[in-house]
Amino acid sequence: MPRPILATVHTDALRHNLQRLREAAPGARLWAVVKADAYGHGIERAFEGLRGADGFALLDLAEAERVRALGWRGPILLLEGVFEPRDLELCSRLNLWHAVHCDEQIDWLAMHKTHQPHRVFLKMNSGMNRLGFSPERYRAAYARLAALPQVEEISLITHFADADGDRGVAEQWAVFDRTTQGLPGERSVCNSAAVLRYGQDGALRGDWVRPGIATYGSSPDYPAHTAEQWGLRPTMTLSARLLAVNTVAAGGRIGYGGAFTAEQPTRVGVVACGYADGYPRVAPTGTPVLVNGVRTRTLGRVSMDMLAVDLDPVPDAVLGSEVTLWGVAANGAVLSIDEVAHAAGTVGYELMTALARRVPVVVQG
Ligand SMILES: *Cc1c(COP(=O)(O)O)cnc(C)c1O
Repeated sequence: MPRPILATVHTDALRHNLQRLREAAPGARLWAVVKADAYGHGIERAFEGLRGADGFALLDLAEAERVRALGWRGPILLLEGVFEPRDLELCSRLNLWHAVHCDEQIDWLAMHKTHQPHRVFLKMNSGMNRLGFSPERYRAAYARLAALPQVEEISLITHFADADGDRGVAEQWAVFDRTTQGLPGERSVCNSAAVLRYGQDGALRGDWVRPGIATYGSSPDYPAHTAEQWGLRPTMTLSARLLAVNTVAAGGRIGYGGAFTAEQPTRVGVVACGYADGYPRVAPTGTPVLVNGVRTRTLGRVSMDMLAVDLDPVPDAVLGSEVTLWGVAANGAVLSIDEVAHAAGTVGYELMTALARRVPVVVQG
């Protein structure tokens, strides 16, 4: 028997979340963001649930090739554009749309020999200070691109730094809107948080929205809103089984460093999941977990291959009982990945994308 740990990708939930995001940004076309191997789900495994999107957005050229290999003939967008001149050959061959965020990328395009002119997304740095042309230099970059025979169509794109936070999008949106006045081209600005929080604003939602994390059932602004409050369903379950059930005497310490001491005799389950599976090692005692679909907590430090859970709330738990680290239990109970991430001081994005290669994955629904 293989080690009893399994991840499940929920196709129905992917479809449901896409639909939910469409409703949040009515009339906009929707990129399924599948960078980082579909946020750890696996592009091939997530594809069936996401093929209702209008396009696929990602970073890695090898991932773009995988999407084309699945038979997808619609739009694919490289969110960081190309990394070196010869990447443009693949863009021509596979008809990839690509972001242009710096002068060098325009230089490369100007030298590129192609029969098929490209569609590019000109990126503005509207305040995040990561990628993109400053507002002052944006229109000049537009003019340069517009003069190139290698370019067929220019779309306008920017990215919000704090769509999920208190600052919101107003400042960056004003910069983008002002700078792009009168420029022809489709617009795309919204990530998940912006779609859910501001997608009803027709000007702001623009022509294309780019939700990533919400598609995968995680709330972009947890704990202000839970995924359930946003109407999102978990698309990934990480489950395992109990390898052992122990009773630890009062005063007994559990795991490396003896980080947890039992105050009374405690039934403790040992779970076949550790940090080498992608479960966060920094998750402290008290991180929520489901055993037989019943909520309980972790105890002590997470090991490489195992972690311990408190079985006091689950008297019927035995060796082999189901443990849900995040996602949906057999009895339908849900443990949001956001809750687990929050307990570990991180975000759902990091847990999903850290799912380890050694964990077998099945697709369901
Ligand atoms: C990752 C990414 C997104 C999606 O962001 P989420 O917060 O996951 O919705 C959108 N646009 C760009 C440019 C990105 O890099």
